[in-house]
Amino acid sequence: MADEADLGNEQAARFLQEAILNRAVEDKLTPRGNCYFCECTFDKTHPSYKAEDATFSQKLFCDVDCSSDYEKEKRIRSRR
Ligand SMILES: [Zn+2]
Repeated sequence: MADEADLGNEQAARFLQEAILNRAVEDKLTPRGNCYFCECTFDKTHPSYKAEDATFSQKLFCDVDCSSDYEKEKRIRSRR
C-alpha cells in the first residue's frame, strides 16, 4: 500500500512541474538576445556567460532575479 505522505510528495512534484511547463507555454517567450525583464542585451563576450554558451541562444533573462521579478510583475499586472 502506498504511503500517503509519499503520494503527497509525488503529486506536489508533478504539480510543480506542470506549473512550470504551463507557464512556459502560456508566456510564449522566445529568446531574443536580451532580458525580458530589464531588457539589457546579453553580452556574449562577458566571462560570466562562457559557462552558459551552450544555452545562450535559449536565454530569456539575465539571471534568476530577473526571471522571478518578471513573474512577480506579470502576476501583479494580471490582477488588475
Ligand atoms: Zn535582466
